[in-house]
Amino acid sequence: MVDKFNPSEIDKKWQKKWAEDKLYKVIEDKSKPKWYALTMFPYTSGDLHIGHWYAMAPSDVYARYKRLQGYNVLHPMGFDAFGLPAENAAIKRSIHPQKWTMANIENMRRQLKSMGAIYDWDREVITCDPKYYKWTQWFFVKLFEHGLAYRGKAPVNWCPECQVVLANEQVVSGKCWRCDSEVIKKDLEQWLFRITKYADELMQHEGIDWPERIKIMQKNWVGKSYGTEISFALDHPGVIEKEIRVFTTRPDTIFGVTFMVLAPENPLVAKLTTPDKKTEVEAYVSRTRRLTEIERLSTEKEKDGVFIGTYVANRLNGKRVPIWIADYVLQSYGTGAVMGVPAHDERDFAFAKKYVIPIDVVIAPLDWDGAELKQAFIESGKMVNSAQFNGLPNEEGIVAVTHFLEEKGWGKGTISYRMRDWLISRQRYWGAPIPMIYCDRCGIVPVPEKDLPVELPEEADFSHTGESPLKYNEKWVNTTCPKCGGSGKRETDTIDGFMCSSWYFLRYCSPDYDKESFDPEKVRYWMPVDIYTGGAEHAVMHLLYARFFTMAIRDMGLVTFGEPFKKLFNQGIIIAGREKMSKSKGNVVNPDEYVNELGADTVRAYMMFLGPWEQGGEWFDTGISGVSRWLNRVWNLALEDYQSLSPDESAKRELERVIHQTIKKVTGDMDRLRFNTMIAALMEFTNYMSRIKDSCSVSSEMWCSAITNLLILLAPTAPHISEELWQRLGHEGSIHNQQWPKWIEALAKEEEITLVVQVNGKLRDRISVLVSISEDEAKQIARDSEKVKTHTAGKQVVNVIYVPGKLVNIVVK
Ligand SMILES: [Zn+2]
Ligand SMILES: [Zn+2]
Repeated sequence: MVDKFNPSEIDKKWQKKWAEDKLYKVIEDKSKPKWYALTMFPYTSGDLHIGHWYAMAPSDVYARYKRLQGYNVLHPMGFDAFGLPAENAAIKRSIHPQKWTMANIENMRRQLKSMGAIYDWDREVITCDPKYYKWTQWFFVKLFEHGLAYRGKAPVNWCPECQVVLANEQVVSGKCWRCDSEVIKKDLEQWLFRITKYADELMQHEGIDWPERIKIMQKNWVGKSYGTEISFALDHPGVIEKEIRVFTTRPDTIFGVTFMVLAPENPLVAKLTTPDKKTEVEAYVSRTRRLTEIERLSTEKEKDGVFIGTYVANRLNGKRVPIWIADYVLQSYGTGAVMGVPAHDERDFAFAKKYVIPIDVVIAPLDWDGAELKQAFIESGKMVNSAQFNGLPNEEGIVAVTHFLEEKGWGKGTISYRMRDWLISRQRYWGAPIPMIYCDRCGIVPVPEKDLPVELPEEADFSHTGESPLKYNEKWVNTTCPKCGGSGKRETDTIDGFMCSSWYFLRYCSPDYDKESFDPEKVRYWMPVDIYTGGAEHAVMHLLYARFFTMAIRDMGLVTFGEPFKKLFNQGIIIAGREKMSKSKGNVVNPDEYVNELGADTVRAYMMFLGPWEQGGEWFDTGISGVSRWLNRVWNLALEDYQSLSPDESAKRELERVIHQTIKKVTGDMDRLRFNTMIAALMEFTNYMSRIKDSCSVSSEMWCSAITNLLILLAPTAPHISEELWQRLGHEGSIHNQQWPKWIEALAKEEEITLVVQVNGKLRDRISVLVSISEDEAKQIARDSEKVKTHTAGKQVVNVIYVPGKLVNIVVK
């Protein structure tokens, strides 16, 4: 009898030993090809749930596979530790964010270690550690010096009653959570990153292997459109501006403009509104301030607006065009002004109908008889009522009108983007302080490198919600100006956590380096990341920011590449009881329980077995016990005595073939990240080995070689049990330092035999078939033979006799 497989004992034993031996310590080794396998680091929420395991265990399997293949593998882990939940814990439960975060990290690190991954914990990075955010701040200064960080106006939620900025979650159905008064949007000076400078490059995904849908989402997010900027003449007493510029993709309809719409927050509105319209306009503007952008752009919302009493002139036909305001025009998009062409735009058509604005047709449908349009005509047609452009197909008109405008100096062809600059300021405590000082004499002065990091003060008063608590820490705010030595004030906003996660993959390359943000030589060795795995929900924020950041520092000469992640892979999600797991539904699978009971290897293997990784699958307790039984069988097969009774050559050849076929299948599946079929192949191999054991038909050497192959193929998936068995079978060194087996194509190939087919004992055909053919397949092939059919046609088959590997005899009468 062999010992019982005791996973929890084995897990602990090997995790301790691997840590002591520094088995997973990673150093730069130029003699080996490198492989940087990165998994998105977790936010420090407190507990690793099964979704984390599903993100991390399969990526560890893949990293281990690469390591066995001879790569020098970096597969690091760390924590995304700044952000709102920590601050909310402080507000609601009076726990300091630092304490809350570090306690969570402690727990999550313990859980991560229980997974048995190859993380080199010496390389751990924590974004709220001053040793880390010193460099986040350093990058901020670099971006500032290169004109990529700037102060600009950006809207915030403002309670006029409390006179404070409110966070989004402090606005409850448009009202202040404290005093219930209407919250308005107010423009505040904040820090922004000029991500729009990289809009074009961010839309290309040159030379990187990313899922198509993520690339499309990023392209749509950037939202590039070609169009024309057109100037309308403005002549209003007391107003300096002599024009209003609009952006349009349809300059061919310029002669059909019958109104113009400004965004309600356009600074011109107050200047241009006539006294009789003032009350109405102001009411509309303040109503708009209470709407979110999504509400404003909703297609369901009826479009309304207010005429402000003033006109601009269409330079092409001299017509007076009334100016309106409407909330569907956003100040931050384009120029904050659009031209209204009701005849050729559905939204403008509805607007004109509602407010009885003329609808002038300038692109004619083929069969148009000059009658009134029942709806907007948005298709192609010929230009009419358009002076010298009459008769031109409208697509040509787009080019011709733009050209004409450019000649006259009334406009120009231009490109517009949906994406805006990245708002980086957070009116929060738990983030890296923005390293800037305001001096009355020198203006904005960045904190010099020698004074970094600007550390977060420990004392913080969280009662000033919505505004940075740092603002009220006078001792911290008041400082000296690094330039003139006079008195200065620190910026009290903190940096958006997405900036901290825009460069963590660089820090992993040299986590303790203190001369610069990273050691350039080590980054040259490891970067770019070979495979980045994580959730598809990061398609546009994190993944776009990290790309922008890398492009920006490439242009500063800090790195030589612009794309940080060569390949991207998004895992699916695990559901339970046909539903997404959630605490309220009570269907949350707690990984700790299963790990304690069945061992990490079983949990790892089961997660990979339950479906293709990119699709996810459903968690069943019956499924996981099946996987647990399989690992128990592997345990027993490896340790129980094997006796070779009657070794025969054909059994040996067949086992050899199965081994090489399994190596080939498992390797191919690993390369394609097809872990579910990889596990199925290992299970089949285990079954086959059980049959060999029962028949005792191969030599002991052959048996041992088969077990050795099984263990190495299993090692990435089940690192603990494979290591334990490896040692118990008397091998030297860790199994995780072995070489991944290679298959020989000739040995993997199925052998063929000649099947003799008889009808009533007489030879009728000889058919070449695979040696592994099943009884049913052999009988079917025999009956389907044309030569056989001529002797069985019209007769009744009474029996089919099968001699395995040799003969089929069909008995008919
Ligand atoms: Zn209030
Ligand atoms: Zn100064």
